[in-house]
Amino acid sequence: MSRSHFRSAWLSVGLWGKCVTIGLAFLWFFMFGGIIYGQHESPAVPSDWMTPAERTDYRETPRYAETIAFSERLAAASPWVRLVHFGESGEGRALPLLIVAKDGTFTPEAARKASKVVVLIQACIHAGESEGKDAGLALIRDIAITKTRAELIDRAVLLFIPIYNVDGHERFGPYNRINQNGPAEMGWRATSAGLNLNRDYIKADAPETRAWLRLWNEWQPDLFIDCHTTDGADFRYNITYQFERHENAPMSIRQWMREIFEGRVVPAVEAEGNLVSPYIVLHDETDPARGIDEFISTPRFATGYVPLTRNRPALLIETHMLKPYRSRVRGTYDVLRFMLAEVNRDPASLIKAVRAADEEAGSWGRSYDPQRRVALEVEPTEGSVPFLFKGVRYRRELSEISGAVRIIYESEPLDLEVPLRNQARVSVSVAPPLYYIVPPQWKSVIELLAAHGVMMRRIEEPLTVEVESYRFRDVKWAPSSFEGRVLLSFVADPIHERRTYPRGSVLVPVAQPAARLILHMLEPQAPDSLVRWGFFNAIFEQKEYGEDYVLENLARRMIAEDPKLKEEFEERVARDPKFAADARARLRFFYQRSPYWDAQLNLYPVGRILNPIAVRSIELKP
Ligand SMILES: [Zn+2]
Repeated sequence: MSRSHFRSAWLSVGLWGKCVTIGLAFLWFFMFGGIIYGQHESPAVPSDWMTPAERTDYRETPRYAETIAFSERLAAASPWVRLVHFGESGEGRALPLLIVAKDGTFTPEAARKASKVVVLIQACIHAGESEGKDAGLALIRDIAITKTRAELIDRAVLLFIPIYNVDGHERFGPYNRINQNGPAEMGWRATSAGLNLNRDYIKADAPETRAWLRLWNEWQPDLFIDCHTTDGADFRYNITYQFERHENAPMSIRQWMREIFEGRVVPAVEAEGNLVSPYIVLHDETDPARGIDEFISTPRFATGYVPLTRNRPALLIETHMLKPYRSRVRGTYDVLRFMLAEVNRDPASLIKAVRAADEEAGSWGRSYDPQRRVALEVEPTEGSVPFLFKGVRYRRELSEISGAVRIIYESEPLDLEVPLRNQARVSVSVAPPLYYIVPPQWKSVIELLAAHGVMMRRIEEPLTVEVESYRFRDVKWAPSSFEGRVLLSFVADPIHERRTYPRGSVLVPVAQPAARLILHMLEPQAPDSLVRWGFFNAIFEQKEYGEDYVLENLARRMIAEDPKLKEEFEERVARDPKFAADARARLRFFYQRSPYWDAQLNLYPVGRILNPIAVRSIELKP
């Protein structure tokens, strides 16, 4: 039910039919077209304070310059609003941040001192998905200029990023979002360097991500909201949302989101005339009746990074792309408004949840307990709960274009009871050590840990120590690049050995609030580990080789000296035809068993230290 559906219905009838069509079209529009009955505009807005989107009746969204100009007007007109820049994009644009606070609490220290919660709202990480920008500007206007929502910052400091992907935003045009029903023109998904910022949260390749991490470390917000627009299926909801619900996220944070967001905010947003649902991923995109799969995040995503590594609740808002822009912006506004209302009503419960999550993570590295397993990844099971899906009628037919079954969405409502697959089990977990130790030559790794705000110590003398680590095998790189990197898969076999780490190596104490982040970055099996993102690729490269005629002589010598090795070799040749047919593999069999073989090949240089250590070290200043 896109615009084109509306238009074709319009054009296909004569004059008499037109009246009927107009009537039906209006009925359709009010029922399903997204002016979901009851959505309101902001109260009492003088015309000179209408946002750029409001002024165009939501046909347009403002460019970067116009957004900055409106933000500057807000800051100039209200002592509650400040506009600052928190960094620079690849192309050199300033990254804007509006700080909205009463009583002059414009710094993290002042906010903490006043016991206020800090809420970070982000828009346009995908620059074509601009609802958050237009909703946030309207909300700040209503808080600080017309003061119809002034109470929303009584006990909260609002940080608002109106456009995060500023370079992508200025790649402005009508053809950037094929699935989306307006605005007329919009920004582009990736940065000017071709990176999707919403996959960059761990590897932090983009300057925008580096700036974001500085902002996060400085403010340590208590709550984070990221504003998006869906792709995917058609249905009646104008607002969908997601947050992390499983064991890999801190329990106190999950509970807070269930109780406060789902228990209180969602009903309030619905009462305002929105139709709200958990994020919809169809199990079979040609057949909604087959049910819905829950989306589960990893730390590469903004709303994965925050709860899974930084112990804070994060809300993903996904407005429905086919609804009119007004409905999407106003729906986003309502979610932001009622979320802020809730944290003002009860800031203590949020602070308590955040503190509990920080304390839990901070306690792990104090002693080693092999039974204490921290979940780093979960995977969906077949388990499901019944879910009443508010969809639209559809039919399925064989397409002569694709040759496959296609779905054709119609406009009448259809309620379907479908399975919502929202159960998951832990697939990767580790027992946190006391420390990780990183050799000093892995500078990009150390520098990245620092950018994430991890506290570290540099040792001032060599350290010989028992460590746990990993030996990798079955290492395979993906066939194509992803986000500027080539990801790899592997099996990591745990090993235990004594190693000497040189002076200048970096100790990463796990006993800090960033413990989850440290595990995610340094445990190779974690879904977004630095090994997976390719930060350690050189350890998988063989550097020395033996010529075949040299290995021939080596093999003969080894067989002569060790009859058991000869047996082992012959047994392998007999049982493994692939091996038997591979001359190189047969020679390598001996090379790998000789002292010439590189013992450091496929060996993880980072160590896990399980016992207290005494070594001279200094704190690394971020
Ligand atoms: Zn998005």
